[in-house]
Amino acid sequence: MTFYRDTWAEVDLDAIHSNTKNLRGLLDENVQIMAVVKADGYGHKAVPTAEEALAAGAQWLGTALLDEAIALREAGITAPILVLGMIRPEDVVTAAANDIIVTAFQPWWLERAEKAAAASGQSFDYHIKIDSGMHRLGLKTNEEIDAFASRAASAEFGRAVGMFTHFAQADEQETSYVEEQTARFQEVADRLESVIGSIPVRHCANSAAAMRFPEAGFSLVRFGISMYGLTPSPSITADLPFALKPAFSLHSRITHVKTLEPGDTVSYGRTYTAESRERAATVPIGYADGWIRMHQGGDVLVNGQRCPIIGRICMDQMIIRVPEGIESGELVTLIGAQGSEYVSMEEAAARLDTINYEIPCVISARVPRLLQKQGRKTEVYYNIL
Ligand SMILES: *Cc1c(COP(=O)(O)O)cnc(C)c1O
Repeated sequence: MTFYRDTWAEVDLDAIHSNTKNLRGLLDENVQIMAVVKADGYGHKAVPTAEEALAAGAQWLGTALLDEAIALREAGITAPILVLGMIRPEDVVTAAANDIIVTAFQPWWLERAEKAAAASGQSFDYHIKIDSGMHRLGLKTNEEIDAFASRAASAEFGRAVGMFTHFAQADEQETSYVEEQTARFQEVADRLESVIGSIPVRHCANSAAAMRFPEAGFSLVRFGISMYGLTPSPSITADLPFALKPAFSLHSRITHVKTLEPGDTVSYGRTYTAESRERAATVPIGYADGWIRMHQGGDVLVNGQRCPIIGRICMDQMIIRVPEGIESGELVTLIGAQGSEYVSMEEAAARLDTINYEIPCVISARVPRLLQKQGRKTEVYYNIL
């Protein structure tokens, strides 16, 4: 696929391979890996990252939406896929037709899903979501558990093939809540099985839990952020069992360089004033690319040196201060390395008072993704309309 703009993200598939393989080496051989590729692979592109993770030892894929799961099937991926979020009960028919496993825990939902399945004669598989303390989705009280279990036990079309929960605090030093949630998960899972019968798959771990407590992996672990080489949280980075390799980097090229005289102001609102004679360069990336205005004041790399973003970031462009000798066409790295300098996802996230997860997710589809393997471009994903 061709593109004509000089702003792009690079996704290093070897990094995804290495992170997945390192996790594989850490886990017991009967614990499987689910590569979580929701939100277009956290902005890395779901299809190539899923294929790479599968090649590196993952067996499952996880998405948030049925739409995302169908897109993987349409790309020819045959691995088991679990939709971790809720779908409309009527859509179980579509899920089943695409061999996609869904999530369930409400009796009313199962009731409606059964009706839809009966009308089409199509049975469907689901994992039961247990709320062990996140309080987002799932069975919480024993009454809810018993009501769902009895409905599930009499279902004719829906088959409970897994049970899972999600940790609220697996990425902090304090681990007592993980233990509490794990204990509750096991208790609920046993209670469900006592009514429904044996359910083959149990899972609870995200990246943080999978790497920190690999012995508690149950049947599979859900590997998201760290598959992309990013730490689940800076407070546990030092304790991780292997070094993560970030896959995502973001680049552009300078379109224009000018000299600012003392007193010259830069961009909308004139929030930056040159104090001395200095060089300023325009970079063709802006908030419509997901490079939001809060990055103002942060550094990017040019010629191996840190250069500050000056003035307001516009929709399609921004301005940086550069040393003498920098000309149009020069490479700008917004996230990633140049020489010995490095702007990490965490540094970019800190400017926005957010977490690393959010940064690649919000870099918009207007930024082409160049997939790379062994330093070679393999594919370009770019879909601006
Ligand atoms: C997104 C998600 C994950 C992956 O979490 P990471 O912290 O990115 O590893 C796991 N489980 C569920 C239910 C999720 O929604």
